[in-house]
Amino acid sequence: MRSKILRCESCARYTLKEICPACGGRAAPTKPARFSPDDPYGRYRRVLASEA
Ligand SMILES: [Zn+2]
Repeated sequence: MRSKILRCESCARYTLKEICPACGGRAAPTKPARFSPDDPYGRYRRVLASEA
């Protein structure tokens, strides 16, 4: 079972709670860097997708 890591949008602290225990801010799930421009494999995947 994969643990659900959340990240506070206010203080950027990682938590498992939807409400940040540090500042009380809202925590959102971390997003996978799937199509990030910083992803070295993202460009390769986009090329494959465009040729499919
Ligand atoms: Zn916080």
